[in-house]
Amino acid sequence: MALYRTEAIVLGYRNLGEADKILTLFSPDKGKIHAVARGVRRPRNPLLGGSQLFSYSNFLIMEGRNLDNISQCEIKESFYKIRQKLEPMSYGLYFAELLRASTPMEDKNRELFRFFLKTMYVLQDWQNLEILSRIYEIKLMAIQGFKPEIQNCVECGERVQNKVFFSASMGGVLCSSCFQRDKHSVTIAPETLIVLKNMLIGTYEELMGIQVKDHVLKELENISKHFISYHIDRKLKTTEFIKDVNRLKINRGL
Ligand SMILES: [Zn+2]
Repeated sequence: MALYRTEAIVLGYRNLGEADKILTLFSPDKGKIHAVARGVRRPRNPLLGGSQLFSYSNFLIMEGRNLDNISQCEIKESFYKIRQKLEPMSYGLYFAELLRASTPMEDKNRELFRFFLKTMYVLQDWQNLEILSRIYEIKLMAIQGFKPEIQNCVECGERVQNKVFFSASMGGVLCSSCFQRDKHSVTIAPETLIVLKNMLIGTYEELMGIQVKDHVLKELENISKHFISYHIDRKLKTTEFIKDVNRLKINRGL
């Protein structure tokens, strides 16, 4: 059976048998794959470090009839700072879940890999993780081929101004004459549209530290939620977890 080398990030795992784990890996060469880490739930196993959530490693993998097996791994970046605290950890889980849900198996996409890796780096130190989530969501959807049209009305093609609506199913903004084409369209304020545009075109470096007003952030969350649930046909488990973590933060006065 063939051996192959690839770098990959651990997106998730589930336990298998007494001591093994099936890892969901995301690789630039292979896309999303499953591979077994044998004995990894025992202490001092050589695959232990590389099997941690979000770990980024070089893997040597043996192709199997049903499941591939990891024979070696060498950590490039452990991203322990994400796992250390509840808040970045919960967002990391959400980002990984959104990636898993929007990516078919073994669909190679180097741009998507670079983007996700970059997101893991910035997640370690980003201050406002709600804002980072909105940036991540819109950029992820754009890379996955669902970039929303935010300049011209998706129905008549006119440049939108003043009263603007957003339609998840039509993939972008609608003008005030056309908004009834989608009865689920929601209003979007001009200032929210500007922030959304900046989020789409700006790099993480350019966007790090941006200030977003609360009502704009709320509106973005609403639009994003509609847009994601239209394109991803499953309920995401981690969104509730993030809500719980944020409630905990408020209760503790953090
Ligand atoms: Zn129109």
